[in-house]
Amino acid sequence: MILTDTHTHLYSEEFSEDRDQMIQRAFDAGVTRLFVPSIDSSYTQPMYELEAKYPENVFLMMGLHPTYVKDNYEEELAHVERELASRKFAAVGEIGIDLYWDESTLKQQQYAFKHQIQLAKKYKLPINIHCRDAFDEVFEVLESEKGDDLFGIFHCFTGNFEQAQQAISYNMKLGIGGVVTFKNGKIDQFLNDIPISNIVLETDSPYLSPVPHRGKRNESSYTKLVAEKLALIYNKNLTEIAEITTKNALDIFGI
Ligand SMILES: [Zn+2]
Repeated sequence: MILTDTHTHLYSEEFSEDRDQMIQRAFDAGVTRLFVPSIDSSYTQPMYELEAKYPENVFLMMGLHPTYVKDNYEEELAHVERELASRKFAAVGEIGIDLYWDESTLKQQQYAFKHQIQLAKKYKLPINIHCRDAFDEVFEVLESEKGDDLFGIFHCFTGNFEQAQQAISYNMKLGIGGVVTFKNGKIDQFLNDIPISNIVLETDSPYLSPVPHRGKRNESSYTKLVAEKLALIYNKNLTEIAEITTKNALDIFGI
């Protein structure tokens, strides 16, 4: 059984004590494909080191995270552009709009999101979208960029059924993680109306741990807990869920 974690911050300081053991636990749980989103330039070097250590298992994205769109965002975007030009990445991400942490940078976030979508198109790469309290704003940008060359993953999808359909209409798969195991997470109530061909698994570790680890540090091995919940929702066995969602991830990333 091969499980794919399409969104894991392996370089996070939260793992500095036991990173290699944590990654080994993921492998032991069958989670052997780990896709790592970028946040800002300070994490680029640690990401390259992880990739060098686990070349068969770790796949890197490049991008500027919306909550890291600060005064120096133009420099950060230039860094993203340089890295994309210099080597191969699995996706441009994570990119998007976050109005939960800071509304004052909306204009700059919109610019950075659109600009990075255009970079993804230039390099024929998928995008990995971060959207928090900003569905309308994210959809507005996607609408302006929609087309066959726009595709990717709507990471940590927590919207409603209509928003799920709209995301899918822009060639996005839904990244489903720990929230699907929460009692009040809501997405478990309509997910079986969404064809499973649109679903990929993720942890967003070290954040958003699934039940029974809710509130504690998350890690990639818990992808299996998300897969087990999806097995219940879609009435399939774990192996089928692993197979289908890994294939979906492969369709998006090409690896
Ligand atoms: Zn993330």
